[in-house]
Amino acid sequence: MINKIVSKYKAAFCSSNGVHIHPNVDNGIQPTSDNFEGGALKCHCRSKIVTVEIKGQSAHNHVCGCSKCWKPNDSLFSQVAVIPRDNLKVTNNESKLQVVDESAAIKRFACKDCGVHMYGRIDNTDHPFFGLDFIHTELSAEKGWSAPEFAAFVSSIIETGTNPEDMGAIRKQLQSQGLEPYDCLSPVLMDAIATHIANSK
Ligand SMILES: [Zn+2]
Ligand SMILES: [Zn+2]
Repeated sequence: MINKIVSKYKAAFCSSNGVHIHPNVDNGIQPTSDNFEGGALKCHCRSKIVTVEIKGQSAHNHVCGCSKCWKPNDSLFSQVAVIPRDNLKVTNNESKLQVVDESAAIKRFACKDCGVHMYGRIDNTDHPFFGLDFIHTELSAEKGWSAPEFAAFVSSIIETGTNPEDMGAIRKQLQSQGLEPYDCLSPVLMDAIATHIANSK
């Protein structure tokens, strides 16, 4: 396990072009399309692919350093956005999906063959983000999904093996990509959570 973490960390950090934040960031952030109509998320299996259809544009896309979100190989961050849960439909091989951690607030449905997380869902109706599903738009071939806007839970990448001494360079790289680094969510989302809590009192 430790070896796996160390090699993942080395691959993520010791590359010629610096840090592997996430492929959709390292290869240049693609712009958001106006009037984007959605698309299909596909898992990484070669056959019996799990397909999830998304209606409409995603929102609040960001990269996330927490240890729960699915990260593609060698990436320090996941990229995750939200959509209204009614806009998500599993259209192929739903039987291959299983919940990664039943006790987590966000239930992440992963393909049990390739391990890719296809969507995350909140069951608790009192949760500030109830009604929104979490998706990784990189799983879709369509171009024009909402672009990542910030970096969340940046300090958490230390928990999965990043050397604390490298954090300055990583934060700098995020900023140079236009992704303001936060160690929780962005102020807009933290305010939304606090407003929800205040209103429910
Ligand atoms: Zn799969
Ligand atoms: Zn996360």
